[in-house]
Amino acid sequence: MFDLLLKAMSRIVVSYSAKKQAVHFLPDFNAWGLDRNGDQLVISGISALELIKQYGSPLLVLNELRLDYDIRNLQKAFSCAPRGSMILYSYKTNCIPGILQYIHSRGLGAEVISPYELRLAERLCVPGNNIIFNGVSKSKESLEQAIKKGVFSINADTIDELETLKDLSAELKTQVRIGLRLGLAGDSQFGLDFDSGEAAAACGLVMNNMKAFNLVVIHLHTVANARNAKKHLAYIKKALKFLLQIKNCYGVDVPYLDIGGGYGVPTSQVMSKPAYAIYRLLGILPSRPNWNEYQPMADYFKEVVKFISDFCNTNRLPMPKLIIEPGRVVTSRAELLLSSVNATKKKNSGLQFAMTDVGKHSIAYPCDYEYHDIFVANKLTRLPFQRYNIVGRICMSSDFIVKNKLLPQLEPSDVIAVMDAGAYFSSYSSNFGFPRPAIIKVCEGKTDILRHEETLEHTIYMDTVFPR
Ligand SMILES: *Cc1c(COP(=O)(O)O)cnc(C)c1O
Repeated sequence: MFDLLLKAMSRIVVSYSAKKQAVHFLPDFNAWGLDRNGDQLVISGISALELIKQYGSPLLVLNELRLDYDIRNLQKAFSCAPRGSMILYSYKTNCIPGILQYIHSRGLGAEVISPYELRLAERLCVPGNNIIFNGVSKSKESLEQAIKKGVFSINADTIDELETLKDLSAELKTQVRIGLRLGLAGDSQFGLDFDSGEAAAACGLVMNNMKAFNLVVIHLHTVANARNAKKHLAYIKKALKFLLQIKNCYGVDVPYLDIGGGYGVPTSQVMSKPAYAIYRLLGILPSRPNWNEYQPMADYFKEVVKFISDFCNTNRLPMPKLIIEPGRVVTSRAELLLSSVNATKKKNSGLQFAMTDVGKHSIAYPCDYEYHDIFVANKLTRLPFQRYNIVGRICMSSDFIVKNKLLPQLEPSDVIAVMDAGAYFSSYSSNFGFPRPAIIKVCEGKTDILRHEETLEHTIYMDTVFPR
């Protein structure tokens, strides 16, 4: 009975949300730095269809000019921060070396969370003082590697980690540059818990071992997909009080405040908990985020810097230099995912399926919990009137990109474009059933391969059954 009711309800709401989708189906592609030529989606001078023809499907495409634009925009916005402040790109967001290299060439440093990422930064010749080592579960080996590399700061996440660092300092006979990551957001697994006094205890441990430690950073990373600075400021306030406490108790001025990443982009959005539940339960796709709700980055950082500077003036605290660790806001919009329709099928209910070569389990995992705009790259201006579930090629019912999406009639070899694939897409990708796709970059009609498509040989390389 409940099931039937749920089904009836979901029919009504799905059809309502479908109507809403139809009204707003063609946005301004300039939001991603893309163009439209009639029906065709064009990426820096080349149509999506042409790219698929040349490089195969599926394909991740980096739009280099858009990456450049977003980096400049961020740098300009952050230029209100005190001299000596730093922007460190969060490697886990998109750790394709060709992309990281470009980001570093524009002057951003590295925020890494693992020995693999640290090694990657090293291979990309990022100087130690442009690297921060974060991470929630660092091994002793990785800490040793970071100390030897001379990173700007190792941001400690637990008291146990501090104890290990103390031992390493003695073993290696060096003072360790250290940060303390504050756990400010309730029961999250991150950071030294602020409310229980764990952070204060960690600070005591550091201050009582000044030979082992040089405290250079207080760190927080507590917002995600922020639309404006409001929530961030509440956390920053706690961190500033902590800085003040350190000054009052120990007479020490910590020179850097690392306020983390989490800056949102208007074009894609993590679903709210209710929106996610409704999507899961009733199949109702959330609507496109309202782009106007997002505070421009320049205003965001102006507000943050003014807030910190006011606090410091009032409390006679020297203004700390700032560190930010953006991920999504740097790369999200600059990359898109192209896939091809292999076949379609229709259900009695009217729902259609598009069987494509990309699903959640291959390279589009964020589509599980984020809103992403999705277009038919070769039928842009056709009116969307069919309800589709776009699914991948893994035999799992969870392998979809989107459900109940209104699209024009699809047929084999149509190209589906998923926007905002530059954050957490390749990071989450797996070779479940199929090798991972190629990643290319496009710049004013020129293309380059950033990563080749995996071959069968790559996927079985570590298996001992097959002789090398
Ligand atoms: C993931 C992460 C970031 C980047 O987050 P975005 O939301 O992509 O900006 C920054 N700092 C830390 C510690 C992270 O774990």
